Amino acid sequence: MIIQPTTYISRDDRRPRKIGKRKMVGAVMPYLAALAPPDWDVTLVDDAVEEVNYSAPVDVVAITARMVTSLRAYEIADAFRARNVTVLMGGPHATFYSEEMAEHADGVCVGEAEEIFPRMLEDAASGRLQQFYQRTEAASLKGIPTPRWNLLNPKHYVFYRPFVIQQSRGCPYTCDFCAERRLNGDYGYRDRPAEEVVEEIKKCGGRHIFFAASQFVGHPGRTMELLEALIPLKVRWSALFSPRFGLDANFLDLAKRSGLLHVNMGIESISQATLNTMHKQFNKSHSYEDMIDNLNKRNISYSFNFVLGADTDDGSVFSATVEFLQKQKVPAAYFNVLAPLRGTPIYDQLKAEDRLIDEPNMDRWPGVFYHFRPLLMSGEELVAQVQKMQREFYSLRSMAQRLRFPRTQADLASWNVNLTQRKVAFHPDTMSEFSEF
Ligand code: SF4
Repeated sequence: MIIQPTTYISRDDRRPRKIGKRKMVGAVMPYLAALAPPDWDVTLVDDAVEEVNYSAPVDVVAITARMVTSLRAYEIADAFRARNVTVLMGGPHATFYSEEMAEHADGVCVGEAEEIFPRMLEDAASGRLQQFYQRTEAASLKGIPTPRWNLLNPKHYVFYRPFVIQQSRGCPYTCDFCAERRLNGDYGYRDRPAEEVVEEIKKCGGRHIFFAASQFVGHPGRTMELLEALIPLKVRWSALFSPRFGLDANFLDLAKRSGLLHVNMGIESISQATLNTMHKQFNKSHSYEDMIDNLNKRNISYSFNFVLGADTDDGSVFSATVEFLQKQKVPAAYFNVLAPLRGTPIYDQLKAEDRLIDEPNMDRWPGVFYHFRPLLMSGEELVAQVQKMQREFYSLRSMAQRLRFPRTQADLASWNVNLTQRKVAFHPDTMSEFSEF
C-alpha cells in the first residue's frame, strides 16, 4: 500500500485535512507503483480524498512525505507499525530529516527512489531491510517507467483532470531560499528525453498537462525541442519557468503554439537589491514590465511568486509590490514569507547568525508563519503584512480591476487561480493545491 498523506487542518486542529476532489492527477504515487517489482500487488491511498484502511491485509506500507505532511505521515506510520506492518518512508522530507523519519519507519529512502524503492520492497520481503537507503549517483531520467494511473480512482479528480507529468529535476540556479538543487543530491539540472515525455503524455490521455518541475527550462534548446514535439498533440500545458524566458519572443511564440496555458514565475521581489541578496540577480526587475507585455500580447495566463522578508526588505515593500501588480494588472500572485528551510543556503546563513525561531516546526503546518528574525521589521509585522497583501490583491475590487472578462481558456485559468487564492487569502489555514502533486 502506497500512501500519500494529507496535512493537518491547522496547527491547532490536528485532524487530517480532507478535500472533495483533487484538481490534478498527481505523479508521485502512480510513479512509485511503476517502480515496484511487477509481481507486487499495489494499492494507492490518497489520504486527502479517501480514508486510510488500517485493517487492510497489507505486507508493506510505503509513505511519501513532504515537510507539511510529515506529522500526519508519522501518525499513519505509527498506526501501521502498531499492527506489525512494515513501514517504508521517503519523499522530499527524507532528504533533510532522515533521522527523524527513521523513528517512525522500518526503512527510509533518502533522495531519489529509482532502483532504491524496488530494492527496499525486496529487502522487506526477505527480512533484510536496512534503516537507510540512498543512491550514490544521480538517477537517469532516460527510460523511466510510465506511472500506473490505472491504480487511481477517477472519482477523486475534477472532470477535466490535468495530469502531472515529470519533465525534469533540479535547477541550474542556486537561489538562497530554495532547496530544489540539493533535494535529490545537488546534481544540477536533468531533463527527460523529449520523445519519452511525449509518449507519456499520449499514454495518460489527458488534454491538460502540468509539468512537474521547479524549473521547466534548464536547457533552452532541449526545452524548445520538446515544445516542437508537443504541437501535434494539441494539449494545453502549464509549468514553472524563469522570468528571463518571458523576454525571449521566440521561446514564448513556440510555447504558445505548443499549448502553453499558464506559467508560474519566481519573480520573488520587485527590488533588484533584494534579488541580488537572494542570489537571483538573473531576474532583472527593470525588465518585468516588458515581460508582462510579452505575456499579455500572446494571451498567456501567468502567476508570479514572491518571497518577503529578505534583509533588504523594509516596511515599504508590501504596498509597493501590490501597487506594482495592480498597475500591471497581473492575473495572479503568491505571497510567501521567507521560510529558511533546511537544505537552503539562507538556512545555513540564518542558523550561523542565530536568527532561526522554532526551527523544528518550520513548514509543518498550512498557514502563514515566520521562523526567523527579519532584519528591518518584526516577525509579527512580516506575517501581518503578507496576509494583508493577500487580502488586498484578492479583494473583489482588485480582481475586477486586474482580470479580463473570461473569453478564453487563459482568462478562465486566471479566474480559477484567483478564486482559489481568494479562499487562501481570507482563510489563511487553507492550502493552495498548486504544489500537491
Ligand atoms: S527558486 Fe527557482 S530558479 Fe531559484 S533555485 Fe529554486 S527552482 Fe531554481
